[in-house]
Amino acid sequence: MVSARAVAERVTDPELPMLTLADLGVLREVSEEDGRVVVSITPTYTGCPAMDTMRDDLVHALSSAGYREVEVRTVLQPAWSSDWISDTGRRKLAEAGIAPPGAAPRRTGPVPLTLVPPAKRVECPRCGSADTHLVSEFGPTACKALRRCRACAETFEHVKEI
Ligand SMILES: [Zn+2]
Repeated sequence: MVSARAVAERVTDPELPMLTLADLGVLREVSEEDGRVVVSITPTYTGCPAMDTMRDDLVHALSSAGYREVEVRTVLQPAWSSDWISDTGRRKLAEAGIAPPGAAPRRTGPVPLTLVPPAKRVECPRCGSADTHLVSEFGPTACKALRRCRACAETFEHVKEI
C-alpha cells in the first residue's frame, strides 16, 4: 500500500494543475490516527474557491488508494505565503509559461516608508526579458496577475507574492 503521504503529495492544485499541493506548500501534514488519515492543508487565500476541490481531490485520491477514513483539516495559521512554493514548483511554473512569485513582502518588523513604490521586476517566462508590465491585477484566478512582455509581446500569468 502506498503511504498516505505519498498519495496526498501527488494531488494537484485545481488552479495551477502543473503543481502538486506539496509543490505549492499547501499540504502541511499527513498523519494517521487510529486507522484514519488526517491531512492538514493551508489555503493559498482565505475563502479560496479551490479549497473544496482540493478537499474532494484529497479524499478521492486517498480512498482510491485504500484509505477508507480520511479527514481534511484546514489550518489557517500561519497564513500561506508564496515563499512556500518549492523550487520544483517554481521550475514547473516557469516551464508552463507562468512567472513564479518573487520574495513575499515581509509581514513583521517596521515597514519602510517610501515615496515611490518599488517597481516590481517580473521576468518574462518565454524570453527572460525583465521589460514587462502589468495588464491586470487579476488574471483567470485571484492568485495570478496578467502581464505583458514588451520584448516578445507575450502575455503571461504571474503568481502574485503574498
Ligand atoms: Zn518576453
